[in-house]
Amino acid sequence: MRHEHCKECGRVFQSTIGQKVCQTCRDRHERAYRAAKEVLLGEPNATFKEIARETGVDIELIKRLSKEGLIHVLNASEGSIECERCGREILVGHMCEWCEHEVRGMLKDMSNGIKSSPEAPITNRSKTGFHIREK
Ligand SMILES: [Zn+2]
Ligand SMILES: [Zn+2]
Repeated sequence: MRHEHCKECGRVFQSTIGQKVCQTCRDRHERAYRAAKEVLLGEPNATFKEIARETGVDIELIKRLSKEGLIHVLNASEGSIECERCGREILVGHMCEWCEHEVRGMLKDMSNGIKSSPEAPITNRSKTGFHIREK
């Protein structure tokens, strides 16, 4: 029994037979796999994007399942996705690098705004000239 960091979520879990992902993530994969299979049963030509939309599973996970040979996506070549914000074609995630960067900047500004009231400087006066004699 070894302690492993889950490759998916980073949580530490006990790996018995050398698994790289925790039970929670494996359950998630299992559900995704079943859902994806279901979609492909009805629509053998579904693309990654369509499967992701139908199942609500992250497209990255769908792609991984396909790569691992668990599901057979015939239309694998049409698996491109669009940025949620600008519609630019991207390969991974929900947003293009640019938008992600921008959104992250906005969030940062927001959290900065919350703490915008100037913090009162912590009075940490130097104690020089104020000697306390011991004894
Ligand atoms: Zn995990
Ligand atoms: Zn974008």
